[in-house]
Amino acid sequence: MHVVFLGPPACGKGTQAELLVKKYGFHHLSTGDLLRKESASGSELGNQLKVTLEKGALAPTELVNKAIKKDIEKYSGNSILFDGYPRKIDQALFLDQILAETNGKIEKVFYFDIEAEELLQRILNRITCKDCGAVYNLQTNPPKKEGVCDSCASTNLIKRNDDNEAILKNRFKYFLEETSVLKDFYQKRGILTVLDARASLEKVTEQIVNAL
Ligand code: AMP
Repeated sequence: MHVVFLGPPACGKGTQAELLVKKYGFHHLSTGDLLRKESASGSELGNQLKVTLEKGALAPTELVNKAIKKDIEKYSGNSILFDGYPRKIDQALFLDQILAETNGKIEKVFYFDIEAEELLQRILNRITCKDCGAVYNLQTNPPKKEGVCDSCASTNLIKRNDDNEAILKNRFKYFLEETSVLKDFYQKRGILTVLDARASLEKVTEQIVNAL
């Protein structure tokens, strides 16, 4: 079963994805993680991406689609949880097309519903494991041992460069202009579940599990 997580930055997609991966064995496909890896690699493409990510703009669809296709092919046969993709209608159409090639399709889409004001608080309290991508909130979901990742024991817990107020505004603008229309797109197909993403981490997981 392939699932999409849709929602504004810092709405909790990454955290819930990690939990579902542990519970159901999904392959977690986060385009943000893929792009950050490329950006850190020092390649020419990586350096171009770094500028885009630090502005909070969207990376070129052609490039993201290419990365997605490669990952889908690599994990064909797995259930995939798409986190941060699609972010635009043309990406959603591309995803349909790629999955159809192996008789696959998106069966469930979860929309993380949350107000803009709450996102800023979450962004300011968020730290991320540079090695495995695990996400923490210093107030509501800190690592069990300070400075150490629960998932991979790395001490590389960092604040993402794009997790600040100015860049959040830009990321949210792109969400409103490009991504939010996907809510309607999937609603019309009858596969959308709207989650109350203001709820506690456990309650959001419960909503997802009940709908799967
Ligand atoms: P995320 O980790 O999902 O918050 O994504 C971080 C950044 O990666 C975004 O602000 C965009 O710059 C870029 N990005 C992630 N997914 C996509 C996508 N599907 N299309 C274009 N850019 C993306």
